[in-house]
Amino acid sequence: MSLIDNIIRSDVRAMAAYHVPDSTGFVKLDAMENPYLLPPELRGELGHRLADVAMNRYPVPSYTTLKAGICGRLGVPDGFGVVLGNGSDELISIISTACAKPGAKVLAPVPGFVMYAVSARFAGLDFIGVPLKTDFTLDKAAMLAAIAQHAPAVTYLAYPNNPTGNLFDADDMLDIIRAVGDTGIVVVDEAYQPFAQASFMPRLPEFGNLIVMRTLSKLGLAGIRLGYMSGNSALLAEFDKVRPPYNVNVLTQAVAEFMLDHVDLLDAQATILRDERTRLSAALAALPGVEVFPSAANFLLIRLQNTDNSAGNVFGRLLERKVLIKNVGKMHALLDNCLRVTVGTPEENSVFLDALTASLAS
Ligand SMILES: *Cc1c(COP(=O)(O)O)cnc(C)c1O
Repeated sequence: MSLIDNIIRSDVRAMAAYHVPDSTGFVKLDAMENPYLLPPELRGELGHRLADVAMNRYPVPSYTTLKAGICGRLGVPDGFGVVLGNGSDELISIISTACAKPGAKVLAPVPGFVMYAVSARFAGLDFIGVPLKTDFTLDKAAMLAAIAQHAPAVTYLAYPNNPTGNLFDADDMLDIIRAVGDTGIVVVDEAYQPFAQASFMPRLPEFGNLIVMRTLSKLGLAGIRLGYMSGNSALLAEFDKVRPPYNVNVLTQAVAEFMLDHVDLLDAQATILRDERTRLSAALAALPGVEVFPSAANFLLIRLQNTDNSAGNVFGRLLERKVLIKNVGKMHALLDNCLRVTVGTPEENSVFLDALTASLAS
């Protein structure tokens, strides 16, 4: 037996690594990044701030100032705290670890964010995926039946959903939160909240089993890796025990504290991207054989309706034209022939539209 066979879990050996394609030289519209940098004056100011950070010291793991800034500026209800993560990916992993009792289950609609399932499996939890309807709305009856059958410890609802981009019906979600009751938690993942203008955060006081999770990534700070989640304090205290004590590094902490004083700037960028989403969506809908789905996020999901122009072919032709988007066509049967494109700058979106138009014709 080889060393690898000896020590590595068989499910890990059987997995493929999370693949991030090399995007050098491409118009990069595959990962829901905000395309804008900070204005030069602010970058200079931030540079000075970072020069004063004591990088020889560990972070102070209470993160009091940063947490107060998040709670005060980002709409966390009075009296509620937050747990911080190295991106919301880490928060998902913390939740999985904390809830991984033998036999416990995680449930989420599919197609959805892949990390819910990946993280659950790493922690030894069973993952139950409940298919959405063909229009990507929640199948409430199927969700309620699965909840009754499996009594999941954790149910994830991404609001809006990735990769479909739509907001689920809020009343359906409330019915799900009530149906789960005190047998589990419902995590509403609001990664795209800056583009959605809808949130469950204000409803936290109504539900002891509700966690609202967000990230600064899609707002324009994907590189610093900072996520936060709020919910009832007893639950947060348990999750915080599982959090590695220094998970948010001092540079991330300093950048985030600085940016919270300039959140209006990030909001203004989100407004531009929402307007661009409207423009891009209309332009895509006008292309023959392209169906565009409604989006409350900073990306659009499209379906190609002509079989010569399969998602795989068109994705490849876009690559030849140095445009990188995401082919989600093989992710789930409901996404057959679908592509996902991040909303970029007006210039990037125009390059993409031209490249797509040419790719559909070839
Ligand atoms: C991008 C994304 C995240 C992960 O965000 P990070 O904070 O960058 O780890 C979480 N949930 C959804 C639905 C996402 O699309």
